[in-house]
Amino acid sequence: MDQDFLSHIATILQGIEADGLYKRERQIAGMQSGRIRVKGAAGERRMVNLCANNYLGLADNGEIRKAAAAALDEFGFGMASVRFICGTQTLHRELEHAIAGYLGKDDAILFAACFDANGALFEPLLSDQDAIISDSLNHASIIDGVRLSKAKRYRYAQGDMDDLETRLKQADADGARFKLIVTDGVFSMDGHIAKLKEICDLADRYGAIVAVDDCHATGHIGDEGRGTPALTGVGNRVDIVTGTLGKTLGGAMGGFIAASQPIVDLLRQRARPYLFSNSLAPAVAAGSLKAIEIARAADDLRAKLGRHTMRFRDGLTEAGFTLLPGETPIIPVMLGDAVLAQRMAQALDERGVYVAGFFYPVVPQGKARIRTQMSAALDDQDITLAIDAFADAGKSVGIL
Ligand SMILES: *Cc1c(COP(=O)(O)O)cnc(C)c1O
Repeated sequence: MDQDFLSHIATILQGIEADGLYKRERQIAGMQSGRIRVKGAAGERRMVNLCANNYLGLADNGEIRKAAAAALDEFGFGMASVRFICGTQTLHRELEHAIAGYLGKDDAILFAACFDANGALFEPLLSDQDAIISDSLNHASIIDGVRLSKAKRYRYAQGDMDDLETRLKQADADGARFKLIVTDGVFSMDGHIAKLKEICDLADRYGAIVAVDDCHATGHIGDEGRGTPALTGVGNRVDIVTGTLGKTLGGAMGGFIAASQPIVDLLRQRARPYLFSNSLAPAVAAGSLKAIEIARAADDLRAKLGRHTMRFRDGLTEAGFTLLPGETPIIPVMLGDAVLAQRMAQALDERGVYVAGFFYPVVPQGKARIRTQMSAALDDQDITLAIDAFADAGKSVGIL
């Protein structure tokens, strides 16, 4: 190995450390849940977990584990094939039909992750004659997916409908054949819900296609958890939904695109992350299938999640923290400075609360935060403990 190269890499790492941006992984000794066992220098500790995407608390659900275990015995451990060679089991098609039925689309296509689904979406559907108009705060995987396509790219300021309209006009003036608007359904760092009604109205007026990445919504937002299109009453006006099996729907892994039949059919022929990557493990497919069944009927868990969200928001606001406004279980506590966010996360860690500081490049410079996420896996005592810990930690780092 070239020593110059390694010392070049070491210098970059030192820079990340010096900027206070170095991320370290803590280890959980057990299942993902509301209370988790975390490995530390002094042994294992029980902590309240406020940073999982485990909104309905299904990650350690007994029925899902049973379904996954049964599939392990009946369908084996792995497929050792991409879908179109010999990697499609009855389970995979069942899961695709279940997703499509859940989201009210003709069909769905599975990927190893939603990162791959978003990487797969644009390139096969659009050419250099077409335009993609993307919200400026869209997830990294959308940004990468858009880059992989040859379509002309336009970006509108987050949630700014005037700006979106300007870009649609611009795309028309540039002679775009087809225009596609793409947005997160729930913005993962801010917890804001996309203005889908307005977006669909503009799409109608300018003849654009609408794609929504609903990773932070499917399963827990909207009627039966059918996501932001259901919540905002535009269900069938959103043409394409991408989503994940790695968050609310059991939290294992896997992504999907749900859309009308010709779109899904073409993606099966042309989407590179589908054609050139392994099929989902049978246990993951079976567990996710069970997770969808549970999520659809989980009004009780959605209500509990909503109660926790209101209580935690109120508690932190009363304590004097600055939160981004919103209604989703994503509750960002704004700190501004990356080092302060790290210190606050550390102070909370010492008080038995597991959170993560988010800072550049995950969020813009100067907008560092602790993003907390509510879960139906938490109970009322956990919320009380967390609010008290925040107040105490805030005082210890000097922001309250
Ligand atoms: C989590 C997330 C993804 C990636 O999903 P994976 O299945 O974990 O790859 C994509 N888009 C958004 C908006 C997300 O929040």
